[in-house]
Amino acid sequence: MESSKRIAVTGGCGFLGSHLCERLLSMGNEVICIDNCYSSRKDNIYHLLGDPGFEFLRHDITFPLYIEVDEIYNLACPASPVHYQRDPVQTTKTCIHGAINMLGLAKRVKAKILQASTSEVYGDPEIHPQAEGYWGRVNPIGIRSCYDEGKRCAETLFFDYHRQHGIAVKIARIFNTYGPRMHPNDGRVVSNFILQSLENKPVTIYGSGEQTRSFCFVDDLIDGLIKLMDTQDRFTGPVNLGNPDEITIMELAEKIIELSGSQSPVEKRPLPVDDPLKRKPDIQLAEENLSWKPLTPLDKGLEQTISFFRGKGKWKS
Ligand code: UDP
Ligand code: UDP
Repeated sequence: MESSKRIAVTGGCGFLGSHLCERLLSMGNEVICIDNCYSSRKDNIYHLLGDPGFEFLRHDITFPLYIEVDEIYNLACPASPVHYQRDPVQTTKTCIHGAINMLGLAKRVKAKILQASTSEVYGDPEIHPQAEGYWGRVNPIGIRSCYDEGKRCAETLFFDYHRQHGIAVKIARIFNTYGPRMHPNDGRVVSNFILQSLENKPVTIYGSGEQTRSFCFVDDLIDGLIKLMDTQDRFTGPVNLGNPDEITIMELAEKIIELSGSQSPVEKRPLPVDDPLKRKPDIQLAEENLSWKPLTPLDKGLEQTISFFRGKGKWKS
């Protein structure tokens, strides 16, 4: 068995972070979960607190942090439009000052560091599906820019620390992901539709519902992140991680209504500003370099997510 590593996960209380902490612990590692809980819930990691390999550190990564670790997964940043637009200046600071501090830490302790980047770096794309070589079409001054440009600049910092200081970096561009422990109030389409369906309330379709997304189940995504961290040092990415099965938002609404046995009607609402029309990852690079592809069919993943939200009656509005 591989020897145990000491691993920091920033944003460890979040949706992806908590699943990542859990998985890394179950593999026998020591995990330091770092989070300021700005947009995440500490109850996502309550079940890990008794584990001797687990440590929770309430810390904002825009401030320096001196710890000793072998690997860093940098996931910290509000990730849904509702959360990242609440304090956009802080969002940019988290992306950039946070990246600088975590890269400084990686440099000092010679740790490998993985950045959770995003499909948002492609903006509203002109090419479809999006491969890593595409530079994106991003509005630099819009309401999504604090996140999109913050994440783009973080990628720049990762590559400059790699070139200038020789540290081992990995960049994952994460596409829409769903599953248990999604934040119930972050306005994400999957959680919104499930919560609305479970209450038989109207399911809110923004715009025509013809826009597409591709949804990856969280367990698959976590596999991809860990496989990426475990690649040889010379492999940096960026690499797309997501599910290439594309679906329109209208189809998604119908599927969720059906799977949750709901009577909900659908209701059209205005499309948010800069909402991308199409999104689908090209995952050939991940398939070739990580031997990874998503394995969970949408229906299966949605069923698990629906039962998670069913069990969380207190979150219903
Ligand atoms: N840093 C940190 N933890 C460390 C080492 C550095 O938080 O263990 C921070 C440090 O405060 C600095 C940033 O990371 O602001 C970048 O570090 P680097 O060594 O690249 O830059 P410098 O210290 O030379 O400005
Ligand atoms: N969306 C929707 N109804 C909702 C929430 C979202 O129609 O209640 C749409 C949204 O406009 C977007 C898609 O679903 O086109 C995915 O939205 P989400 O915020 O989940 O992710 P992102 O826009 O970051 O891909």
